[in-house]
Amino acid sequence: MKSDVRYIDVAVALPVYKTFTYCVPDDFAPLIATGKRVLVPFGRHRVTGYIFGESHISGQKQIKSVLDVLDEQPLFPPSMVPFFKWIADYYKYPIGEVVKNALPGGLVVRDYALVTVTTAGREALKKGQMTPAAAKILANLPPGGCREKELRKKIDPQIPGALLQTMQVHGWIQRKWELAGARTRARQEPVVRLADSPPPDDGLTGAGKKIMDTLKTGEMRSVKELRAVVPRAAALVKKLEKKGYLIVDTRRVWRDPFGEAIAPDCALALTGEQQKAVDAVCGRLNKGYATFLLQGVTGSGKTEVYLQVAAEVLRTGRTVVVLVPEIALITQMEGRFRARFGECVGVLHSGLSTGERYDQWSRLRQGKATIAIGARSAIFAPVDNPGVIIVDEEHDPSYKQEGKLRYNARDLAVVRAQQNGCIALLGSATPSVQSYYNVTANKFLTLRLEQRIEQRALPPVSIVDLRQNRDARGVRRFISAQLHQAMKQTLARGEQVLLFLNRRGYASFPVCAACGKPVRCKHCDISLTWHQRANVYRCHYCGYSRSAASKCEFCGSSSIKHLGLGTEKVEAAVASLFPTARIARMDHDTTRRKGAIIKLLKGLQNKAIDILVGTQMVAKGHDFPNITLVGIICADLSLSFPDFRAGERTFQLLAQVAGRAGRGDAPGQVILQTYNPEHFSIAAARQQDFDAFYQQEIGFRRALTYPPFSRMVQLKVSGRDFRKTEAHVRQLGDVCRRQKAAAAEPFRSLEIMGPIEASLARIAGRHRWQILLKSTSAGALHRFVDHLLRDHPSLFSSAKVQVAIDVDPVFMM
Ligand code: ADP
Ligand code: ZN
Ligand code: ZN
Repeated sequence: MKSDVRYIDVAVALPVYKTFTYCVPDDFAPLIATGKRVLVPFGRHRVTGYIFGESHISGQKQIKSVLDVLDEQPLFPPSMVPFFKWIADYYKYPIGEVVKNALPGGLVVRDYALVTVTTAGREALKKGQMTPAAAKILANLPPGGCREKELRKKIDPQIPGALLQTMQVHGWIQRKWELAGARTRARQEPVVRLADSPPPDDGLTGAGKKIMDTLKTGEMRSVKELRAVVPRAAALVKKLEKKGYLIVDTRRVWRDPFGEAIAPDCALALTGEQQKAVDAVCGRLNKGYATFLLQGVTGSGKTEVYLQVAAEVLRTGRTVVVLVPEIALITQMEGRFRARFGECVGVLHSGLSTGERYDQWSRLRQGKATIAIGARSAIFAPVDNPGVIIVDEEHDPSYKQEGKLRYNARDLAVVRAQQNGCIALLGSATPSVQSYYNVTANKFLTLRLEQRIEQRALPPVSIVDLRQNRDARGVRRFISAQLHQAMKQTLARGEQVLLFLNRRGYASFPVCAACGKPVRCKHCDISLTWHQRANVYRCHYCGYSRSAASKCEFCGSSSIKHLGLGTEKVEAAVASLFPTARIARMDHDTTRRKGAIIKLLKGLQNKAIDILVGTQMVAKGHDFPNITLVGIICADLSLSFPDFRAGERTFQLLAQVAGRAGRGDAPGQVILQTYNPEHFSIAAARQQDFDAFYQQEIGFRRALTYPPFSRMVQLKVSGRDFRKTEAHVRQLGDVCRRQKAAAAEPFRSLEIMGPIEASLARIAGRHRWQILLKSTSAGALHRFVDHLLRDHPSLFSSAKVQVAIDVDPVFMM
């Protein structure tokens, strides 16, 4: 921005849908830049806002002035302004709150600055060259400086940040930033190389000579590496350095998720298929927008394709964004990128402390890091000029944010790529129906990897029909003879077993043995799950828990039968079948603590675990070569969900978990237990046959005009008071119907379904209702919702009943 701007556009962090214009006082003008935060008056309040750019109004109206400029450096590049505007418009979310949600939490760095007077400042003060406000600050600064917080306490709580910034620009003060909790201790390790002109080494003998010989290749070696050759290396290196043979230096080390130093690696020689994919993408770089769908079977080496595309993008001076569905996979992806690219990787995810996250954010913002890796929120990474935006496992439902700003990071990747004229690269073994449809509609380009690396076979999948197991008792009921047998053989070969069941806890359906009533949550319309280890009943939706010693609420009986299956029960059953096996469980319950996932993964890698039992967490993208048997305990759990994507979810989960087997040298196998062997999702997953699944599924979507043949918006209405909530949703339904009737033609294709009570009619004490809007025209659908918001704002801002607008809903229950 020019330094003489008079008016700026500001998005205030309030529930309002447009930006506002503010006037810039003369002395603030040099401090103004797009992406900085400002303090502005709004009504009778002072609020934070984000500068969106210069405003070109001819000011007749009374325009209010900016009160303060809060940041020294912009928090996001100007190229993200249209992105934020698109999001606010598409997801019907207040623009300032879009930005607030996009930025990492806890941007309170202001309080940690150490302020000191400079010599120039002292001179200027003596000569009286400054405003009284500035003079007062200088006069009050102690010789060693003090924190901004203390300064405000001492002089005036309202010292504008802009005043301090201006004083800094004049060179009167210095400020040093210290972040709370940002002790991102860079780990260093000593490394050794030959001196440029070492003395002749004839005088050396034994161990010393051995070290010199190891270094003769001219490469740098860490002291740790040398210690593997010569145990006393550390002491010897010091001596050799003193004598001028060696030079000791330090280098930054990155650690993998398991805490081991990551050894730098080089690009692998690509397979023919990988090479074709990399060439196709690189051939399109810097030629404008395109989206590629990289469909590669599990274990086909998609990551290497990402790495080599990223390398090419960096060479052309642009940046890279990589999205990964969850933290455990981020660390894995981060490890592979660090090994290749080292320092220039920045990570963004919720496992970082506030300070660390701010630190990573600034490194990306300032271009010190040029590759951003993270979970869905990394789509907001403040990098300028991205050349490729990679979305790994693009089908994963966790790219959809539920609550607050309800966005889909996969879709936003495509939007951001369009706006920046760059490439979106979506990868999966089991693409979403949506993305594959976009390939068939020629919106996306397709790349295929059909072969596993080293021609490893995809594991054969055998089906066990659980209907034939009905009469079995005890553990036999859910661990069939075939599975039991295969487990025995696998363990005997010293290989690992993965058992998958997509439900945690011990018993998901406890019922009273006396009166037959289920044990239900107090706040939700749902059964509680019995957790054996904690010995409590727990609600998986609101977290409510109740002692397992409690009696039936209805008849007072204390005899409760624990029906239904969960991972905890599977774990217990397996322990009784294989008393000497080392068994671990990976689900939401066992991984809540920070670092717990990593510990489990490490156990798998080090072969300290023989059998891993887990939920969908184990299905995702992990690469463990020693797992040769995958057992799917019950494939049907997700089929019965009242959701049009139930078949898609089931296929993806099963095909993904099956893909965990046989990724190493030993061949793998999968045993899939099901009550519905003929269901096409299950049959297709058995063959890992995406095309067969897609052909069936797309026919069904077309017949019912479900997405991708239509778009949906779900109005999620909830409140604590049942009657008020129902009255509100009925009123909203009436308004929808009237609006459609009033403009029949433009909204011809629009269907209004509901209001109905949600399948989960109550969660955490809130009664839940829904209205589903569906249309074959995205434009009409969006206009419809815009009109609702414009003409009936009070329906959307009631204090008692919340109405959330979910555009392209995923969780529809
Ligand atoms: P995917 O993500 O497609 O399931 P990965 O990217 O995890 O597969 O790759 C599977 C394994 O194959 C990894 O261990 C990876 O290091 C290895 N690999 C990938 N590409 C090559 C290659 N060109 N040559 C040798 N090994 C490779
Ligand atoms: Zn009872
Ligand atoms: Zn509950």
